[in-house]
Amino acid sequence: MATFEGGCACGAVRYRLASEPMIVHCCHCTDCQQQTGGGFAVNALIETNRIEMLGETPVAISMPTESGRPHDIHRCAKCQVAVWSDYGRRPALRFVRATTLDKPHALSPDVHIFTRSKLPWVGLPPGVPAFDVYYDVAEVWRPESLARREAMLAGG
Ligand SMILES: [Zn+2]
Ligand SMILES: [Zn+2]
Repeated sequence: MATFEGGCACGAVRYRLASEPMIVHCCHCTDCQQQTGGGFAVNALIETNRIEMLGETPVAISMPTESGRPHDIHRCAKCQVAVWSDYGRRPALRFVRATTLDKPHALSPDVHIFTRSKLPWVGLPPGVPAFDVYYDVAEVWRPESLARREAMLAGG
């Protein structure tokens, strides 16, 4: 099985994903653009208990949001690189910034979201689902990922 190890720029925060994520989002929303300084964020959605910490624990910074729904970005205390987000204060779920993996190409997006604010010079690959805003989880997620999500929501 492939191992998914990653970390921050200075090396203080190191992590390993115990399995593949449930799904990988490529998010083109304006928050992701501003907060990363890039065109989009690549977020691997995985159960928090499948993230093994190999180094220091990142520090949560609360971000202002339009919706009022909390968004905490977890950053290295030293170099401030963001390694994952917690959207909605759901302790069991993390949105790992997939390009912090040592192999940033190890995971590719399963779905593109918020394409309504996609930068005009970013092209979307054919065959990958893309949505103006968001999508119906039951229609897009793989059956095994839906089962993992159920277990996660049940606290298992
Ligand atoms: Zn660091
Ligand atoms: Zn976003």
